[in-house]
Amino acid sequence: MSTATSSNPAQHHIMGVYNRAPLAFERGRGARLFSTTGEEYLDCVAGIATCGLGHAHPVLVDALKTQGEKLWHVSNIYTIPEQEVLADKLCAATFADVVFFTNSGTEAIECALKAARRYHVVNGQAERVNIIGFDGSFHGRSYAAVNASGNASYLDGFGPRLPGYIQLPFGDMDALKAAIDDKTAAVIIEPVQGEGGARALTEAQLIELRQITRDAGVLLIFDEVQSGMGRTGKLFAYEWAEGAEPDIMAVAKALGGGFPVGACLASTEAARGMTPGVHGSTYGGNPLAMAVGQAAFDAINSEELLDNVKTVAGYFTQQLNGLKDRFPDVIVDIRGKGMLIGIKVVPNNRDFMVMARDQKLLIAGGGDNCVRLLPPLNLTVEEASEAIAKLEKACETARAKASAA
Ligand SMILES: *Cc1c(COP(=O)(O)O)cnc(C)c1O
Repeated sequence: MSTATSSNPAQHHIMGVYNRAPLAFERGRGARLFSTTGEEYLDCVAGIATCGLGHAHPVLVDALKTQGEKLWHVSNIYTIPEQEVLADKLCAATFADVVFFTNSGTEAIECALKAARRYHVVNGQAERVNIIGFDGSFHGRSYAAVNASGNASYLDGFGPRLPGYIQLPFGDMDALKAAIDDKTAAVIIEPVQGEGGARALTEAQLIELRQITRDAGVLLIFDEVQSGMGRTGKLFAYEWAEGAEPDIMAVAKALGGGFPVGACLASTEAARGMTPGVHGSTYGGNPLAMAVGQAAFDAINSEELLDNVKTVAGYFTQQLNGLKDRFPDVIVDIRGKGMLIGIKVVPNNRDFMVMARDQKLLIAGGGDNCVRLLPPLNLTVEEASEAIAKLEKACETARAKASAA
């Protein structure tokens, strides 16, 4: 068939589910991306928060090459020592005791939801099936993930909603207390919403969430696919609140530094139902992914890198609030946590992204008419100041367009 399924003429045989920018890249280095037409961009998207160490980081390239010459894939029929190394690191650094490796964030979410329901089955409470999620959340695109987030635009046209999923207003603890009953299996939430527009729970909310779920015998699942792996200045965002450890956590994005790796972490107790045969993955935890994941983990789980996130994030917050004061007609809110930064804009956020792109600055979109900055975690203050200068020019463009209209 030669019929186009995409509106982009260069994408005849690609399914048209993305509204892609007319821009392609040939190579990257750190926070720089070079287009196929030879132009240089400052990258504050970083593969949607996956390339936490920037592009072509030498330590990751070396890990990939070294493992690439040894062994790529054998499947989970066998023991994979490289999995045990990365799982040890993740468990040493978190609440977790056990890990299931996946290829993506969505699969980590699937594992988390399945583990939660199985837990109650082996615990003699098979009636506990309901999963409580929150408005504005994003957990991925599988049927379970779109039902858990409840976002209508991801559900419409895909048949009936799955039973057993409930959504509440983000951060509404009174609604949560009222909604939990003896049919509730788990609560799933992003400590800092990513796609939803960089909305962060407060530390007090995180602690309350933990108390409410613990008291009710309900499992707490944190989706740290975007907020985790150093993005907020801690290895995981839940660490900002003491005593807010979840029972289960989904991790992906920066876990592989840009290579596809995800993980579902759990306490021994919460993983009780995950017995031989109940779950699996062909590619999950393959030696190549594990080798890159180990290298990325060591580089991200360092005081120096996490300090850099806090420093550069502090600089961004201060400078962006300055821009908001000078351009109240363009910027109405600065939100998020660490280097998961949301800027709520007055012009359409997609239009503002193009204005930034015209300044050779790449930024991401987000819910609630936000744009997001998700730069590499090793971004320097100099690069951050370059990003601010480009954003300032984009604000000037936005102002000029509004007054011309
Ligand atoms: C990206 C994301 C996912 C889905 O991850 P994929 O790797 O795209 O499957 C799930 N949850 C959150 C919070 C995310 O940001």
